Formats: sequence, C-alpha cells, structure tokens
Amino acid sequence: MSILKVEGLTKQFGGLTAVNNVSFDVEEGQVLSVIGPNGAGKSTLFKLISSFLTPTSGQVRYKGEVVSGLKPHLVARKGIVRTFQETTVFKEMTAFDNVVIGHQLGQNAGPLGVFLSTRAARADEARFRESADEILEYLGLSHVRNELARNLPHGYLRSLGIAIAMAAQPKLLLLDEPFAGMNVDETDRAVTMVEGIRRRGITVLLVEHDMRAVMRISDRIVVISFGSKIAEGTPEEIRANEAVIEAYLGQ
Ligand code: ADP
Ligand code: MG
Repeated sequence: MSILKVEGLTKQFGGLTAVNNVSFDVEEGQVLSVIGPNGAGKSTLFKLISSFLTPTSGQVRYKGEVVSGLKPHLVARKGIVRTFQETTVFKEMTAFDNVVIGHQLGQNAGPLGVFLSTRAARADEARFRESADEILEYLGLSHVRNELARNLPHGYLRSLGIAIAMAAQPKLLLLDEPFAGMNVDETDRAVTMVEGIRRRGITVLLVEHDMRAVMRISDRIVVISFGSKIAEGTPEEIRANEAVIEAYLGQ
C-alpha cells in the first residue's frame, strides 16, 4: 500500500522550474531515495512534500488525503516529519533535552507552542522522557545523552537531528542529506540507524549523495535531473540505467 503519492508536482521560482511535473508513489514501510545532481530540485521536492512550500501545480497525497496547502505543523502532526539540511539543534541544550523538545514540536500547534507550556504539555513531557531515552538508545546515542549539543562532533550532531525528528513520532520521515560531511564510520553508523528506523515500520524518504549508502538502504530510487524525474526503480535497475549513468552517476 502506498502511504504517499506525489502527483504531477511542479514548483516554479519566478522563471525557474525547480520541480517539473514529478510523480511517484512511496510504499508504506519502505526506504525510497531521491537522487540527482546539485540543484536538481531534491530539497524543493522535500519542502513541497512537507508543505514548507506550496506547489505551483500538482499535489501530494498522504494516506489518500491531499496535504498540499496545509500548514507544515499540521502535516507534521499527521506524521510527515522532516529534518533539515542545515543542522537545527539547540546548541546550549543536552542531547536528551533536544529530543524532548523535538517531541513537543511534534505535538504542539506550531513553533510558538513550545514556549506556551500548558499543564497538559508538561504532563505529556514527563511521559515522553522515557521514550526520549529509548530513541537515544536505538539510535546509538545513549552515551552522549547528557552532553551539550555544542560539544558533539559533526556526525553525532547530524544523528541527533534524526533523533529530534524521531521524537515527533513520524510515520513518514524525510531525511535531506543525512550523511553529508560524515566520514565512512559515521556513515556506516547512520545507515544502521536508518535501517533501525525502517525496522520500526517507519517509511523513510531520503535525499542523499553517498551512492554506496543509497544503494545499500533503498528499496526504490527516484532520479531527478533539472527538476524532472528521469528514472525510477530498484537499486539494481538504477545502477544499470543508461540515462542515469549519463546524467548523474557517470559524472
Ligand atoms: P537540490 O536540493 O537538488 O540541490 P534545490 O531543490 O535546493 O536542489 O534547488 C533546485 C533549484 O531551485 C536550484 O536552481 C535553486 O537555486 C532553486 N531554488 C531553490 N529554492 C529556491 C527559492 N526559495 N527561491 C528561488 N530559487 C530557489
Ligand atoms: Mg538539496
């Protein structure tokens, strides 16, 4: 069953068509990666899916319901949660407290909700603290639980970004270049993390440049170039696709 349907999605910025009539389905419980050269429109596509941008035309359907045009926090509450390409972590807080905040971001009506702490929100936070430790544990971050985020090495900071997104209890997790700037060991650990997330039944949509990692963890791959989808298939099919090799892999 498909959890997400991207239907003829197009986004123009002035005269530039960043995403051009892109369609694909994401099966529930799978990992689907979107690959393509720099500037191909991958991040724009993610912002359209998470409703941070409104499409010029086309739509996104989540569990059958059109979600394009909804406010991003409402889409997040339905279960579509994204991390950001930039690291968005509260640097002066511990890893643990960042995850607790991530949970509130998933629960509350918007960014302001975090600061308007109601009694109900505080009770919910108390309940969530145990889950926060569980998330840190299955993402392999327990040993840095009490470290201030600013003291964490880059790879851990990026992993913490994923933990924060997981705290919002996503059903569909969007990861934009989660392995960027990671060394081989960090990438291996992060791949294991994504596999762990998938095992928990969460659908993952991934934009990533690291082909070794993409080929390892993806069930399907969508390739975009200059805003348009040029190929889609299993890792084996994509590896053998001449148009893809020409547009991207052969660079
Ligand atoms: P990718 O993530 O594949 O590298 P992006 O989606 O970030 O590509 O960008 C696709 C194209 O859209 C690029 O040419 C980029 O400069 C342009 N673009 C992205 N965001 C905006 C924006 N907010 N305003 C104008 N142009 C944008
Ligand atoms: Mg990008």
